[in-house]
Amino acid sequence: MARYTGALCRLCRREGDKLNLKGNRCNTEKCSIERRKYAPGQHGQNKGKISDYGTQLREKQKARRIYGIMERQFRNYFEKASSMKGVTGEILLQFLERRLDNIVYRMGFAINRREARQLVRHGHFNVNDKRVSIPSFLIKIGDVVEVRDESKSLSTITESIQIAEHKGFPEWIEIQKETLKGKVMRIPSREEINIPVQEQLIVELYSK
Ligand code: SF4
Repeated sequence: MARYTGALCRLCRREGDKLNLKGNRCNTEKCSIERRKYAPGQHGQNKGKISDYGTQLREKQKARRIYGIMERQFRNYFEKASSMKGVTGEILLQFLERRLDNIVYRMGFAINRREARQLVRHGHFNVNDKRVSIPSFLIKIGDVVEVRDESKSLSTITESIQIAEHKGFPEWIEIQKETLKGKVMRIPSREEINIPVQEQLIVELYSK
């Protein structure tokens, strides 16, 4: 299935939750879900009873949409998470958080994950001094992500970091904003992953 390229706000309205897919606009009164709290389309306002399966499915779709991941890749993360020791739902989210495109977003080098993915694909970042252009590249504790010298004056990046500074950076990441460099100090715990998803429902869905 192809990657979704339509209007991002429709995805939030479909899930009935703020997924913060756009960046700045999400925190303003222009946010679509603040104005229209119902699903898009002709039948968007008809709220029927939703089954347990439907609830689990929506939760999984929500997580996929937040991180911008295709079904097969998402499922792969789940398979890996469920084969590891620990709480599967939390490990699944930790895999998603460790993706390079997410880390670029968390470090404030991009306004949202979609933009982060595009910047990574275009080769604007080094990981431990080596260029990496794979959005799904998994970052480890201690890895250093840096904007490449020739990309340091890109307005997309410099403007994003200013906005991110205003909002504050996650505690599990150390940022040197003067050099546009960041280090992952630890893998975030569930409490530090601020996404509106009940991961247990995803585990239940895939465990059927
Ligand atoms: Fe979602 Fe952001 Fe659009 Fe609001 S502005 S509906 S949070 S993408």
